[in-house]
Amino acid sequence: MNFILHFVPRKQDGLQVKQVNFDVIVVGGGHAGAEAATAAARTGAKTALITMRLDKVGIMSCNPAIGGVGKGHLVREIDALDGIMARAGDEAAIQYRLLNRSKGPAVQGPRAQMDRKLYSQAIQTILAQQPGITMIEGEVADFLFQADTANGVVLADETEIRSQAIVLTTGTFLRGMIRIGDEARPAGRVGDPASIKLAQRMESFGMPLGRLKTGTPPRLDGRTINWEKIESQPSDDNPVLLSFLSDTPKQRQISCAITHTCSATHDIIRANLERSAIYGGHFDSAGPRYCPSVEDKVVRFADKPSHQIFLEPEGLNDDTVYPNGISTSLPGDVQEEFVHSIPGLQETTILQLGYAIEYDYVDPRSLRSSLELKDLSGLFLAGQINGTTGYEEAAGQGLVAGLNAARQSVGKDPVIFSRSRSYIGVMIDDLITKGVSEPYRMFTSRAEYRLSLRPDNADQRLTDFGHRLGIVGSERMRALEDKLEEIEYGRTILRRYSLSPPDAEKYGIRIGKSGGRRNGEQLLEIAGVSIAELAQIWPELDNLNERAAVQIERDSMYANYLDRQERDAERLRQEESRRLSGKVNYKAITGLSSELQEKLIRVQPTTLGQARRIEGMTPAALALVLAAAKQNQLQMNA
Ligand code: FAD
Repeated sequence: MNFILHFVPRKQDGLQVKQVNFDVIVVGGGHAGAEAATAAARTGAKTALITMRLDKVGIMSCNPAIGGVGKGHLVREIDALDGIMARAGDEAAIQYRLLNRSKGPAVQGPRAQMDRKLYSQAIQTILAQQPGITMIEGEVADFLFQADTANGVVLADETEIRSQAIVLTTGTFLRGMIRIGDEARPAGRVGDPASIKLAQRMESFGMPLGRLKTGTPPRLDGRTINWEKIESQPSDDNPVLLSFLSDTPKQRQISCAITHTCSATHDIIRANLERSAIYGGHFDSAGPRYCPSVEDKVVRFADKPSHQIFLEPEGLNDDTVYPNGISTSLPGDVQEEFVHSIPGLQETTILQLGYAIEYDYVDPRSLRSSLELKDLSGLFLAGQINGTTGYEEAAGQGLVAGLNAARQSVGKDPVIFSRSRSYIGVMIDDLITKGVSEPYRMFTSRAEYRLSLRPDNADQRLTDFGHRLGIVGSERMRALEDKLEEIEYGRTILRRYSLSPPDAEKYGIRIGKSGGRRNGEQLLEIAGVSIAELAQIWPELDNLNERAAVQIERDSMYANYLDRQERDAERLRQEESRRLSGKVNYKAITGLSSELQEKLIRVQPTTLGQARRIEGMTPAALALVLAAAKQNQLQMNA
């Protein structure tokens, strides 16, 4: 994967070249760029954020929402490290919903819908208030080098800007090509030019570039939707906010609505499939499997009579509605026709057509865990350019790349985020070891330590770590210390009291005959026992505040499982070299997704380690493969 630098001299005669020096340059003002610049500046690095349009910094290119399952975990981790996504999100949130509320806290996903304008304004305000950041408007067209190290950029107007390290976060802009039906035009996203010179320059170095695609739905005029006809989806009564530092919603909360496609919609789409840019043979690249276009849904799930569509208002003073679930690249007339077949949308005006976009990405296997390119010192990459999809994935990488670029600029060692400490670590490890053949998004199933990597304890896992690295400020550190103090206070009370099995029985708590006396902390580890229940026995527990009580209950709920989680992860590590015979029947493994069955059959890994490195392989799926391999071995030996 080595790539060689070709130094092409540029003609500068007669041009005025301005020279400016920074510690870190961040290219791009999207979700990765904003996080990278603020992380670098928080360490004290003199940072420049260069982007094509300053008024578009922090823009949400697609859906107006932050968080979700897996993505919400990333948002909390970014927040725990004093990143900006969750704080900006809480400034702009107009609907909060905790996804998977009925499931365990490890797989619950905080999600908030944004007022799109307020979100980008909040990001721009935070950037403006962060000391150490200079915002520069311009298109980066080339890099400057000293020996084998990137040490600056050249703008399209030939301005040279120097730095010790660069973070490139160009999103979907590198040779971006928008397609609607058989129309195609170069663009970074709708309304923005593509970044072509920079992509060509990167290609000229021999950087390992590939193409990926994604898509977005048409935007609707909310005044023309028949809201009476469709189901309303209100905000949660007891909202869970994004940031650990927030307590109440800042904006008025609104309802969304749910409608669905119907057989008429599917017929229209099926009849026009070859006119879709995606199905008409205009793309070679792969799109996000878990965020399919409506064309994909109709083809791949042909037996499903309808698909849900969430109608999400884009702002408090904005009539635009984002119909989540019908991303498309069909031509305009077909978009009109199928949208009008959907209940509640029969009279709807389309404000902006849906489209697909194809763009260059860099094979993330060319990166170190610090997100610096292995073969080009000083150049760090973060966000969609690394083959991911989503604001949260981009922001998580941005934070790591910005931090490491800043550390490199002062000669410090890189910081590595491990899989056992964070989803950010899981994501980076997946990217740099497995690469991507389709846009990567976060799922909780990707983590082997998902019981301990919860959204509720991200601050306990990461804030002190971030403080020691110099990226977490005193306000957040104080908030963590307060929380830990409250928790310790609660635990002290819980340890002070205990019950024998017969006494526990009297209060309806079953310890089991073999169990001895248990203190309050140990009693909480029993399923169904709560602090409220124990407070009836020991009223001193009423002094505990709700936040501490919830956290103690959650930590206790998982305490018994953490050892097993560690043992399972260790077992998989030890079995890495186990040979998998060609006779494992992957199709017969129940619980294994058809996606992974197909990949295993195609790759035919010879060891468990090789199976682990298959893109999309999860720890739970690997455990199934291991069990099947052992079973197979037993049958062969029998
Ligand atoms: P971006 O947010 O794209 O930011 C890139 C930044 O780089 C911009 O500020 C741009 O001006 C700047 N830039 C680019 N080139 C240069 C240059 N040469 N010089 C200076 N500045 C430059 N995500 C999902 O999770 N689900 C989806 O369904 C989904 N659909 C999408 C559909 C479309 C059409 C698009 C465009 C995006 C979609 N996304 C989706 C992805 C989501 O928008 C991105 O994942 C996220 O914005 C990536 O963040 P980023 O910071 O990497 O890049």
